[in-house]
Amino acid sequence: MTERDRLRIAVQKSGRLSEPSIRLLEQCGLSFRQSRDKLFCYGETLPVDLLLVRDDDIPGMIAEGVCDLGIVGRNVFAEQAGELVAAGREPAAEEVRALGFGGCRLSIAVPQDMPYAGPADLAGLRIATSYPRLLAAFLERHGVAARIVVLNGSVEIAPKLGTADLICDLVSTGGTLAANQLREVERVFETEAILASTTRPLTGERGELRDLLLRRLDGVLAVKDAKLVMLHAPRASIPAITALLPPTARPSVSPLGGGDDAVQLQALVVGAVTWQRLEELKQAGASSLLVLPVEKMLA
Ligand code: ATP
Ligand code: ZN
Repeated sequence: MTERDRLRIAVQKSGRLSEPSIRLLEQCGLSFRQSRDKLFCYGETLPVDLLLVRDDDIPGMIAEGVCDLGIVGRNVFAEQAGELVAAGREPAAEEVRALGFGGCRLSIAVPQDMPYAGPADLAGLRIATSYPRLLAAFLERHGVAARIVVLNGSVEIAPKLGTADLICDLVSTGGTLAANQLREVERVFETEAILASTTRPLTGERGELRDLLLRRLDGVLAVKDAKLVMLHAPRASIPAITALLPPTARPSVSPLGGGDDAVQLQALVVGAVTWQRLEELKQAGASSLLVLPVEKMLA
């Protein structure tokens, strides 16, 4: 069999992670010939192609070498890794980056009127979930024996149907729980979208492409929520202005044509820059204030 020379990344075909996954890869400079209705997207700017699949298939496809990388929820990834370990097998994929979107948690929720004081109360009860391994690990950590009822969808209605006493499911806002008269009582596992990679060494061009992608990804992730603040000020105001910026901002100062006294200051600020902060900077001597979004960074 001839070795592939193009890198392949699996992403969710349709669902919560699809759009943000593709957007992130585009921010890394990849572009794809539009054929999102199909399984395969051909990479145009770099020899990096996409496979559009169900999220549950992604860890397995990486392990089998069908693709080299994949974007998937840590919940799905860890659940399947747990399954492999339980079967005495070594997972052939690993998490290489947390991507900062698709965040939610796997939580235990009980019917509104069920009293709950702690994990010991779960003993002997039936818990419906699509994540039996992650739930089993939680129960084991707390030394509780409960019955796990594995369901692949509509977990939240199991207590009403009588197929389980309570549930362990993904929660973000809690809206679905409230709509089903359920109350969140334990956080079992925190999750977000991750980039998973094969643990096998990638040789030649594919290895270089993965390294390039990871470097670009780090640049995109580092400036996520970052702003470039630019301002003019008299040199004497620099200490007061710097004190108003976060310690990580490490401003750079350059002379502003003509007079010795006027400087331009530039700083990278992570997080929001409020109007109030801008007004404080102005009071400290700044003028011509500009706050710009940052798209990429290469250290
Ligand atoms: P597929 O058809 O690909 O199997 P799915 O129905 O399993 O799709 P989605 O509902 O699109 O998957 O969720 C994909 C991932 O999004 C989840 O595994 C989880 O990591 C993440 N996610 C973020 N917020 C939530 C939420 N509120 N509920 C469920 N998943 C969430
Ligand atoms: Zn799925």
